[in-house]
Amino acid sequence: MQSVSAQESELSAAERREALKEVFVQARGCVRCPELAATRKTVVFGAGNANAELMFVGEAPGASEDEQGVPFVGRAGKLLEQLLGEIGLARSEVFIANVLKCRPPGNRDPLPVEIDNCQEYLHRQVELIEPNVICTLGNFSTKLLRGDPTGITRLHGQPEVLTLGRRAVRLYPIFHPAAALYTPRMLETLREDFTRLPELLALGAPEQPEWVEAPEVEDPGEAPEPETPGHTAKAAADGAQAEEIDQLGLF
Ligand code: URA
Repeated sequence: MQSVSAQESELSAAERREALKEVFVQARGCVRCPELAATRKTVVFGAGNANAELMFVGEAPGASEDEQGVPFVGRAGKLLEQLLGEIGLARSEVFIANVLKCRPPGNRDPLPVEIDNCQEYLHRQVELIEPNVICTLGNFSTKLLRGDPTGITRLHGQPEVLTLGRRAVRLYPIFHPAAALYTPRMLETLREDFTRLPELLALGAPEQPEWVEAPEVEDPGEAPEPETPGHTAKAAADGAQAEEIDQLGLF
């Protein structure tokens, strides 16, 4: 038995991109949420630098994102880009994803079952990108990643170290830019919270937990193909054909 730290398991940038693409191809054909699968135009997987130190997690795609297959391209996205620019970062340097990869019809809130169905994709993204800082935008991503119902009004601007999967990250909840678009006071707070991001990034990765590798088990022989609920190779192929937008170049 060998003890390995998560740091030692870091992937190269190219390996991260390739692995992310595989997860994206799976997500693209996902039909775990029948209503979302039937109403979406695209699966908005995420975009940006697969090797990013900073990752943003929003709520769910809106109409523009659903059209273009890219997260945060509407008004909230423009504000996010502006705030990033104010701290000297370009959108292409970070990775941007959402809790839900599909647009809820009419921009309704994500349902608990949808969050549950989709969370595996977000966790895979975090696992592969290995960001040092995850900035959660608003309530949905903050509650999901913290596994706690405490709301964003209480938590915004307070970084904490959290272990997600095998890796410790600095979680930094802030208000959702869409909410700040209509409330000047909230925009001011969001901007203030944003100004603390560079110092948080400068801290680098938090100390990583030590992991003990499980002992090797004997090969039990040929196992049946694991079936992910609602996701089949056929669905993935259908989805791949149906979507013309080339999202594989997004990260
Ligand atoms: N709001 C989100 O939470 N995500 C998007 O991609 C766009 C708007």
